[in-house]
Amino acid sequence: MDRRIDVLSLYPKDMNIYGDSGNVLSIRRRLELFGYHVQLHAYNQDDEWPEHVDLVLGGGGQDQGQRKIIRDLFKRADAIRALANDGVPMLMICGMYQLFGDYFETIEGDRLPGIGILGLHTIGQEERLIGNLVEHSEEFGDIVGYENHSGKTFLHEGTRPLGTVDNPGTGNNGSDGTEGARMNHVIGTYMHGSLLPKNPEITDFLIRAACQHRYGEFAAQSDASALQELKGLDDIASKARAVAMQRPR
Ligand code: GLN
Repeated sequence: MDRRIDVLSLYPKDMNIYGDSGNVLSIRRRLELFGYHVQLHAYNQDDEWPEHVDLVLGGGGQDQGQRKIIRDLFKRADAIRALANDGVPMLMICGMYQLFGDYFETIEGDRLPGIGILGLHTIGQEERLIGNLVEHSEEFGDIVGYENHSGKTFLHEGTRPLGTVDNPGTGNNGSDGTEGARMNHVIGTYMHGSLLPKNPEITDFLIRAACQHRYGEFAAQSDASALQELKGLDDIASKARAVAMQRPR
């Protein structure tokens, strides 16, 4: 069996803040340790679209960065939607999460259209939601990260959140206790951090779905040194999670 996985990093030049590139590193290294060969495509505006895509990662960005990429995002919207419907896993953080919804209205009142893969919309407000965050999810347990956004996101009826937050004034909109959104294998979230190095459960969910999409199964082939490195990464993640969970907001 060929063991190649094609990972698409969406708009790393303009949509990549608060350490979101760590998500790409984390996916790449864990896939390698599971014995897969990773073909990484860094896709920016007007680049060529790769022939194969098994996993898509998108990061956060300022409103300005979102404006810059939107024309190209719409050019690729049908391709991205088809992949999402086909079960390709995607992780969209903050600015890209907002643009996966129906629209993002900025503080200035401009309405940036989104590509509507997630049923939600976002309204920019003066007060930013900033700080460390822990959310609870049935599927992934506690998720640890860091949020920083002016946009308040409201899920439409029938849209599943990624998780729930206890702290008032945090999460999607600071009022309804939800954080992030889910559709098929697509995860949208405000969690920077980077998210994946601290949340290996989510990393492995994305990896399993990518391998299943490409080969119909996830079949790890890790030698002894790979297993040792995986254990080391998990130990570091537990320590980082414990520290982040105790840090006051
Ligand atoms: N510009 C958006 C907001 O502030 C996204 C910010 C981000 O990606 N961190 O709501």
